[in-house]
Amino acid sequence: APKIGVLALQGDVREHIRALEESGATAVPVRRQEELAAVDALVVPGGESTTMWKLATTFELLEPLRMRIKEGMPAYGSCAGMIMLADRIEGGIEGQETLGGIDIVVRRNAFGRQVDSFEADLDFAGRGTIRAVFIRAPWVESVGPDVEVLGRTEAGDRIVAVRQGPLLATSFHPELTGDARVHSYFVEMVREL
Ligand code: GLN
Repeated sequence: APKIGVLALQGDVREHIRALEESGATAVPVRRQEELAAVDALVVPGGESTTMWKLATTFELLEPLRMRIKEGMPAYGSCAGMIMLADRIEGGIEGQETLGGIDIVVRRNAFGRQVDSFEADLDFAGRGTIRAVFIRAPWVESVGPDVEVLGRTEAGDRIVAVRQGPLLATSFHPELTGDARVHSYFVEMVREL
């Protein structure tokens, strides 16, 4: 089984580990450089991208993470994790950095204050309808030529799931629904790469 890490600086670490194991992977939390070096792939959970960026800096993980992504490690980012994997941010704080890797512009807190959180059904990667949970979620403002769009909201036709090679990102939180199809898709990606 592939060994997949879950970046454990903040967010739903346990829920991601459960969904990955349900999908046939061995899943472990990653907080240190040695732990990062020992995994085949990584999930970056939701949370707050500015906080995650600062914590990754404090834990001396920012450069090691960038390096592994550059070397082709598969990674899946949910919500704030999507922001972390995006090459460019709109609505970030002054000086906010990402890990990058996916050629997209992502807009933070895009769905607006009136609708902090909501759920919607959407088609994911042609695998049928999934229930997507959005919490102060970003959307993908624009995609580069090598990015595949895997999901859009029905309302407003916003891009909320993308893939570029070994990198996957969703605006929503699949770890909260008990439906492991997004994690299964990622585990399959890891097995194929
Ligand atoms: N709004 C958060 C951010 O900018 C993301 C929210 C989430 O991950 N649920 O990082």
